[in-house]
Amino acid sequence: VLHARDLRHGFAGTEVLHGVTLEVWPGEVVAVTGPSGSGKSTLLHLLGGLDTPQLGEVWWADERADTLDTQTRAQRRAGRVGLVFQHHYLLEDLSVLDNVLIPCRLAGQDHPGRAQELIARVGLQGRENSLPGVLSGGERQRVAVARALAARPAVVLADEPTGSLDRANAELVAALLVSLAREEGAGVLLVTHDDRLAAHADRTLHLLDGQFTDA
Ligand code: ATP
Ligand code: MG
Repeated sequence: VLHARDLRHGFAGTEVLHGVTLEVWPGEVVAVTGPSGSGKSTLLHLLGGLDTPQLGEVWWADERADTLDTQTRAQRRAGRVGLVFQHHYLLEDLSVLDNVLIPCRLAGQDHPGRAQELIARVGLQGRENSLPGVLSGGERQRVAVARALAARPAVVLADEPTGSLDRANAELVAALLVSLAREEGAGVLLVTHDDRLAAHADRTLHLLDGQFTDA
């Protein structure tokens, strides 16, 4: 569902990723760990099409993503790739329900029933009309998980999705993300510093100085 070949990318003349190749299969949970500055977020941005690699290829299922123009890419991303970040990036003036519906609308699906069901699955039934500002950090991140899955993406990319949460909420959010994605048959790429979260994954890739190592 996600495939990248020989990605190279850097900033201001300094190469950060030195040729990264990876695949995520449907229903598979892959963790990416590595020290700060090793290029994990840079990699996730390239895979999600938020940035364009200087060299290499990104494929979303059978469509090459890195060569699409920005607008087409954003539209395709909405239906194919779910994103969860450390900071939830909910839109503060939209209700929980409207936040979850964002990718559906971008992907040309409008399915409030499914959004409501996902909101219930992350334990926020009855909070559909709340604004993000009144929710706790853990609740906001659960909304972000529901939003990431709303448009039935084939893969979810998560960058330290629990990094700003306490232990109990981190476990809850990670478990929800993984179990919902598995139910939906979506692949997950989970960037985390936390070995206990990496334990949810089927396999773990270690990024060191911009390359995967076997360690
Ligand atoms: P962390 O675990 O701290 O989140 P990371 O593995 O996600 O680290 P990246 O954020 O991918 O690391 O950064 C890798 C390197 O690229 C760092 O040296 C960083 O300073 C640099 N870098 C990342 N984004 C940019 C940018 N937009 N402009 C310039 N340099 C950048
Ligand atoms: Mg990072």
